[in-house]
Amino acid sequence: MTYPVYRNLIDGQWLPARSGKTILNLNPADHADVVGAFPSSSAEDVAQAVAAAKKAYTTWRLVPAPKRAEILVRAGLLLQERKEQYARDMTREMGKVLAETRGDVQEAIDEAFYVAGEGRRLFGVTTPSELQNKFAMSVRMPLGVVGLITPWNFPMAIPSWKLFPALVAGNTCVIKPATDTPLSTYNLVQALVDAGLPAGVVNLVSGSGSATGTPLLEHPDVRAISFTGSSEVGSLVGQRAAATFKPVSLEMGGKNAQIVLNDANLDLALDGALWGAFGTTGQRCTATSRILLQKGIAEKFTTEFVTRARALKVGNGLDESVEVGPQVNAGQIETSKKYVEIALAEGAKLLTGGHALTEGAYSKGTFFEPTVLGGVTPTMRIAREEVFGPVVSLIEFESFEQGLEIANSIDYGLSTALYTKDVNRAFAAIRDLEAGITYINAPTIGAEVHLPFGGVKQTGNGHREGLGAIEFFTTWKAVYVDYSDKLQRAQIDNAE
Ligand code: NAD
Repeated sequence: MTYPVYRNLIDGQWLPARSGKTILNLNPADHADVVGAFPSSSAEDVAQAVAAAKKAYTTWRLVPAPKRAEILVRAGLLLQERKEQYARDMTREMGKVLAETRGDVQEAIDEAFYVAGEGRRLFGVTTPSELQNKFAMSVRMPLGVVGLITPWNFPMAIPSWKLFPALVAGNTCVIKPATDTPLSTYNLVQALVDAGLPAGVVNLVSGSGSATGTPLLEHPDVRAISFTGSSEVGSLVGQRAAATFKPVSLEMGGKNAQIVLNDANLDLALDGALWGAFGTTGQRCTATSRILLQKGIAEKFTTEFVTRARALKVGNGLDESVEVGPQVNAGQIETSKKYVEIALAEGAKLLTGGHALTEGAYSKGTFFEPTVLGGVTPTMRIAREEVFGPVVSLIEFESFEQGLEIANSIDYGLSTALYTKDVNRAFAAIRDLEAGITYINAPTIGAEVHLPFGGVKQTGNGHREGLGAIEFFTTWKAVYVDYSDKLQRAQIDNAE
């Protein structure tokens, strides 16, 4: 079997892992299709990458931000040119359908152009001093070398959310992509290299979480970590990074609710629920995994929703007629199976789906039926824990207030959606839903790059991507310029 062998990028050179070990990247729709072999990097490779980033920082931080931004513009243009190829690569490596992988590349393009604009902003603050003839201002400074650790479900978009703002702010980067999806990050980094990024400014090391991610977290020269992934791993990441006092941005799991009130446009709510639950095969942090139905419309919605879910075409995402691709790997199939079993044992009803698809062409990959569970109550595990697969729960409620209470009754707080025509309730929900994102009359998925992205409770630790990313990748410096030509004491030292 022949397949391409990819390398790490360290100090501008494409290098194999020092151990020579590789990890095979398989197409989840067809395991016989080997996308490529990628380095299985260890602490040694990470140390080399961090050293390269540290060296590059000495010059990159001095490049004017508008010039740094020009490289992002060129990278965005290259991504536009290569969009179709990169989307196909992504479908091959992680399964989601082509329409969605084109969207993933588009997100990186949008991020490049949005963040490039920051090169001419990066605003600071000036303010009056408490003393005469003294000028006071606050300016943004880069952090230094930053470590970026990313998941497999948005393998180009999420790396772009981290790399581009980190770079425009003057940091240098070491990025470790998810083990299942190194190619899309490789493609993104290739676009940056071709756009003229100097050697060492971005270094890419592929490998597993424990062998590659952990040494990156622990490296003393890494000044900050930006992580997106599960809450379980995020908690470990936060604890490890704390040992060397690194700021950490954690974007983690979700258990997102779409609430449908009796007065909602039912067709619209059905379209939104179907897309939110089964887009990306349910493998989005913002996926709709709970549909909360007010009693008056519950029966009608359920019947129609189950019919539509059953009709979805599952298959290889490279086939343009397919609506739902495979799950990313066998482990995710096991998780979907396990949660269906748990739900049934706790009294939920299987309305459609519930099984791995293993016959015919499906036997080549890792496919799971679009699955709808009815009769779910808010205390069941299926209503509280993230599945990260095409499995959605229907929960019924009586009053609007009860709907909000159920939506909020979980440990996560990423995305929420409310379908109603009642503007008063819409605004009350915007105020009361405990989540980083609330949609009105739109599904729980579909974030735009220039708004803050992230969540509350166990979804995040308070940082935001998008609008909030520059905040994370810079630190404030307070600057005082005294032009009085004499020693002036600030009020802290001069309490007359
Ligand atoms: P994961 O937590 O298993 O892995 C995320 C990254 O962490 C990968 O690169 C992995 O190799 C690395 N990693 C694993 N163990 C590590 C360790 N001990 N030290 C350092 N790094 C380690 O998540 P995943 O399965 O890739 O992605 C799915 C999860 O990501 C879901 O929970 C989903 O909700 C979440 N997610 C969140 C957002 C968001 O913005 N909130 C976006 C996408 C995905």
